[in-house]
Amino acid sequence: MDIAVPEDVLRVLALLEGAGFEAWIVGGCVRDSLLGRMPADWDVATAATPEETAAALHGIRVLPTGVRHGTVTAVLPGGNIEITTYRAETGSSDHRHPAALRFSGRIEEDLARRDFTVNALAYHPRRGLLDAFGGGADLRAGILRTVGDPALRFNEDALRILRLLRFAATLGFSIESGTGRAAIAQKDLLHALSHERVREELTRLLPGRWAAQVLRAYPEVVFTVLPELRPMMGCGQESPYHCFDVWEHTLHALDAAEADPIVRWAALLHDCGKPDTKSTDSAGAHFYGHAARSEAISREILERMRFSRRDGEAILQLVALHMEQMPPTEKRLKKLLARLGEAQLFRLLDLIRADWAAQTPGLLEQRLPGLVATESAARRLLAEESTLTLKDLAISGKDLLALGYSPSPALGRALHRLLDEVLDDRLENTRETLLRRAGELAGEESANITH
Ligand code: ATP
Ligand code: MG
Repeated sequence: MDIAVPEDVLRVLALLEGAGFEAWIVGGCVRDSLLGRMPADWDVATAATPEETAAALHGIRVLPTGVRHGTVTAVLPGGNIEITTYRAETGSSDHRHPAALRFSGRIEEDLARRDFTVNALAYHPRRGLLDAFGGGADLRAGILRTVGDPALRFNEDALRILRLLRFAATLGFSIESGTGRAAIAQKDLLHALSHERVREELTRLLPGRWAAQVLRAYPEVVFTVLPELRPMMGCGQESPYHCFDVWEHTLHALDAAEADPIVRWAALLHDCGKPDTKSTDSAGAHFYGHAARSEAISREILERMRFSRRDGEAILQLVALHMEQMPPTEKRLKKLLARLGEAQLFRLLDLIRADWAAQTPGLLEQRLPGLVATESAARRLLAEESTLTLKDLAISGKDLLALGYSPSPALGRALHRLLDEVLDDRLENTRETLLRRAGELAGEESANITH
């Protein structure tokens, strides 16, 4: 089986081999090519040291991106190529980094340190596939299995537990039983990972087509990194609208949501405040104020994981607004559109649709017309010149700076507030009126500001 290797990569291989160093294409790009998927990037492994690599690639710009670990990056027109010296690694003292690392002359040693058999395949345009650990058969069967003893491999690097779930969620592969058992048994090692690494892996896992299935099969792993979600499991929703407990409902919503990381995070978190707000009467269960509680819990999670302000706020906004009445009044829709912007409004509509799809069968069909009407009303408003957005206000951020605002979130809040009041017909969209009102708002803000 041949892999269509890009020109740039062929050139790197030829230059290394011309200088006398063996080189292979390795890892995810071999896996994805054999699956008929477009590789995200191409990685090369070679017997050459970083210095030898740089010398062999004369005429190509080479960046010392990770020389200590044996990695340099070749800058080429078709994209960057990472070139890594064959490595052998041993042990780990912190469940994240190898205790010792040495360069090796043998590709087999390099393949042996890789996480899963399907990621431990090497390919060469002339020598073909090098499959030392049965990765070819696992790839055909759709199986994720560690290279070597899973307990040992997860103990060396706990990130592999999340990578396992991520590949299962994105490739739809099944997890070999010993590998799956070890991942669960070693889940507490996940506490050794930085919150950022956990965030990155989960953010790549959640948009996977099989994400809900994987979370359903490995709840203990999920709750180890997101303990706030545990109370959802077994939290019953005795109501005509619901046929699942909160956790199972959440997984169905996740599954139904579009494959956008922001929407998927919001789907995962949207009801995490339900267990805290549950009350029961003769009519069944109620969750008054749960969207606000979900928002508060989610804020803690997202801050802990150090989401960027932009992504964090986008997710929180969706969680907070997921109970929004559909269809909204025209005025309310205008406001939502002005506040959220086009992309974020359509994310909200998708989340609401996914939330309904995860409730009692038939409910979505009943409510769908309201959502469809909202969508077309939003598109009509977007096409109309008369629709106001921040840009259309008679004053801008510059005017607020001139009024003494500092370039801070308070400035953005003030602009949104002005727009809200214009949309509510409480303010006239004229320069004079808006400047006067902005002055008042500045006074209110400074009364609230502590530093
Ligand atoms: P993708 O790029 O789609 O995330 P990938 O398999 O290419 O998938 P990378 O993180 O780019 O993943 O890593 C490239 C290769 O390096 C992997 O295929 C695997 O062979 C190896 N690798 C990456 N991370 C680890 C790890 N934590 N433990 C062992 N091997 C790893
Ligand atoms: Mg890769």
